[in-house]
Amino acid sequence: MNRPKVGELQPPDRLLMGPGPSEVHPRVLRSMSTPLVGHLDPTFVDLMDEVQDLLRYVFRTDNEWTIPVSGTGSASMEAAVGNLTEPGETVLVPGNGYFGERMASMVERAGGDPVFVDAPWGEPLDPDDVAAAFAEHDPDVFGFVHAETSTGTRQPNVPELTAIAHEHDALVIADCVTSLGGVEFRVDEWGIDAAYSAAQKCLSCPPGASPLTLSDRAMEKVLARESPVRSWYLDLSQLQDYWGEKRAYHHTAPITNVYALREALRLVAEEGIEARWERHRRVAGALKAGVESMGLALNPEEDWWLPSLNAVRLPAGVDDDAVISHLLDEHGIEVAGGLGDLAGDVLRIGCMGHSAQPGNVLTLVAALGDALETVGAEVDADAGLAAARRRLAE
Ligand SMILES: *Cc1c(COP(=O)(O)O)cnc(C)c1O
Repeated sequence: MNRPKVGELQPPDRLLMGPGPSEVHPRVLRSMSTPLVGHLDPTFVDLMDEVQDLLRYVFRTDNEWTIPVSGTGSASMEAAVGNLTEPGETVLVPGNGYFGERMASMVERAGGDPVFVDAPWGEPLDPDDVAAAFAEHDPDVFGFVHAETSTGTRQPNVPELTAIAHEHDALVIADCVTSLGGVEFRVDEWGIDAAYSAAQKCLSCPPGASPLTLSDRAMEKVLARESPVRSWYLDLSQLQDYWGEKRAYHHTAPITNVYALREALRLVAEEGIEARWERHRRVAGALKAGVESMGLALNPEEDWWLPSLNAVRLPAGVDDDAVISHLLDEHGIEVAGGLGDLAGDVLRIGCMGHSAQPGNVLTLVAALGDALETVGAEVDADAGLAAARRRLAE
């Protein structure tokens, strides 16, 4: 084995406007070069309390059981699904996007039976369909995706959905990966029993420590399980030794990621959660006005528009890869194409956290106009940019 010659780390300068990761605030980057302390150091134990308090603020919850899970969003997702699903239980999952399918796959691995409540990709679940699925399957758990990143769809009527589940004594799991810290989301007020998220979307933090919260009722179910959780690493009844009062070793916390998450959450608290939701609506609203005035349409309807992830329909015949490559190669801007039922039909443009700034949106709208004209699409790039500027000036 020869000694590899590997050059210095020099990632290109990108503007991250895709489905995540988003731009990271310099304060968060700086926090990651802070010297390590041990994961059981008394100062780190205090810092854990701070992170938990900040997470409760962002989740809008008083849940004691609020922690950052070691790993990316899929780890906190699997912690929620795996701990709340006992073998043989039925779990109702959404069929209107990519992440509902991932949820179903996790349910199966936990020994549960997933059943789908369907809606077309790009539309939210209809409460009547959820009620009908409850009547038919009587599920033990109901999971839904509040912000479906694959389709740019926000699930409205959340309190209505949780009420249906609670009438049937089921627990509700919410995926808020692409809404937490960017789009209105309220755990306690909306009656959500467990919610999970990730660091690299609207919290604008590098991936690695992922928010999770469970109500007392949800945690009681976890602690009363008949069979142990199939994942040793994500077993919340064991993890409570570390994140609960004992602060005893379970696994080594990703200390640097916890520092980063703390700083990212501090930025949210300084801005104020409601002001942050409003900023996302305002800045993404300019993006939306820009692409619409250019002659394009957003895929989801206005009532379920998701400011943090804008799924923009491409004109017929336009190759999404050509547009995405032009944005990356000529402008250094990252966006993504469609997934699943929307593959080839849409561009997915993120407007999350530190990326959600007026200057970034004007840059994106101008570059998108350039990319579309370059590939021969009929759009009015100037009108798009003018509309985005006007919206920001309102
Ligand atoms: C990104 C995402 C996930 C998974 O998060 P990872 O950090 O990629 O593991 C889950 N659900 C939704 C809605 C997401 O957007």
